[in-house]
Amino acid sequence: MRKVGLISLGCPKNLVDSEVMLGILREGGYEITTEAGEADVLVVNTCSFIAPAQEESVATILELAELKKSGRAKRLIVAGCLVERYRNEIRQQIPEVDAVVGTGEVERILEAVSGEMAPAAETTARLPEYLYHDRTPRVTATPRHSAYIKINEGCDHPCSFCIIPQLRGKFRSRRPESVVREAEALARAGTREVTLVGQDTTAYGLDLGVADGLPSLLERLAEVEELAWTRFLYCYPNRVTARLLDAIATTPKLAPYLDIPLQHASRNVLARMKRGSHGGAFLKLVERIRRHIPGVSLRTTFIVGFPGETEDDFRELCDFASAAEFDWMGVFGYSDEETAESHALGEKVDAETIARRRDALMALQKKITARRLRARVGSRETMLLDGPARDAEWLWEGRLAGMAPDIDGKVYLTEFPEDAAPQAGRLARVRITRATEYDLVGRVEEFLDAPRAAEPAPVVAGGVLRVVG
Ligand code: SF4
Repeated sequence: MRKVGLISLGCPKNLVDSEVMLGILREGGYEITTEAGEADVLVVNTCSFIAPAQEESVATILELAELKKSGRAKRLIVAGCLVERYRNEIRQQIPEVDAVVGTGEVERILEAVSGEMAPAAETTARLPEYLYHDRTPRVTATPRHSAYIKINEGCDHPCSFCIIPQLRGKFRSRRPESVVREAEALARAGTREVTLVGQDTTAYGLDLGVADGLPSLLERLAEVEELAWTRFLYCYPNRVTARLLDAIATTPKLAPYLDIPLQHASRNVLARMKRGSHGGAFLKLVERIRRHIPGVSLRTTFIVGFPGETEDDFRELCDFASAAEFDWMGVFGYSDEETAESHALGEKVDAETIARRRDALMALQKKITARRLRARVGSRETMLLDGPARDAEWLWEGRLAGMAPDIDGKVYLTEFPEDAAPQAGRLARVRITRATEYDLVGRVEEFLDAPRAAEPAPVVAGGVLRVVG
């Protein structure tokens, strides 16, 4: 049996594509290996939305090209967002690459790996249209108890700094029945938590003529018995409706958690980003959400150093972040992508200033996150157990509903009840005993569900050679 090894780069949406490619390859008779040295075929699913991600993708391709030259691998396939930008350059400049597969060609991975993909096809690029469904084979690469579900793909927003619409195509939603069937299948296979992803999850269903598509979908997913938690990422600020907040506030199994990338707070900068609005309106939104969903956790993302951003604009952003007090925040330095509309703007900010502003905003947020975590010390919370801590084997770790996998903090566990059987995927009551800058420490007081039968060995532990988010 030929063995395939895959490296998945970038966001959870790209990870789902990697998992679909692994599913198709396994169904096509390939064995999946997590040892690069054992692979006959190497696949790298790339990311390229900003320069640092692009550099990492190219470095990974070259790393695997070296492996192919010296090792067992006979074929090297490059997939994902970098292909949408540099399809022909990759083939011309890295001869070790045998085939390229764009984000719209995920289901052609078997042809690419087996050498049946007509080279001609590779030169013709058109906007991706592909979107998987519940009957698409898929091998999940996340721990068994937690999985991502992609509910829509592509984006129609005109954000001037963003090239994702060029890489992922027009906005398109999966049918609700398909998403629910997939969640049910994942739950039967041991998944307790699903995280819904898409470029803009709050637009879910608009293209299907479904009003309030996301809240209705969330309520249906909350009925999937085996699932403990459902959460979603990537809200668009002006689509956070009262109906959506109601659904989260009144449906127990929906995590009280909202991820709303705001990108900035200055009216001037948001106008140049073609996103509109301003910090004052965002503050009202944050207050409305907290009124509607007591104890909700909020995450956001900002870009600093956008062309034309003045020291006053940056100060306005910091003042907004101080007032809003998000639980979690990601900060990106502006990346001047040549095919983005903002590339044509003047008043570019120098790299040193971008770095200084990014560090200053992260330092400001670090204090806020630490303060909000300290406020939880002494409380009793419900937690999902994830397993042995990745960075402290003698400890186990878990997450509260306000902590998304891979991007937010976690709870390190120092104690379990005498007779307890720690098992990934179990829900437990935890007493929070300490807080650090980004994480909590606690002791498990009781488990809220029965241990599940020892699961059969997963088909492929982890499924991929490496996940780099
Ligand atoms: S909403 Fe997000 S994915 Fe869509 S264009 Fe704006 S930044 Fe890009």
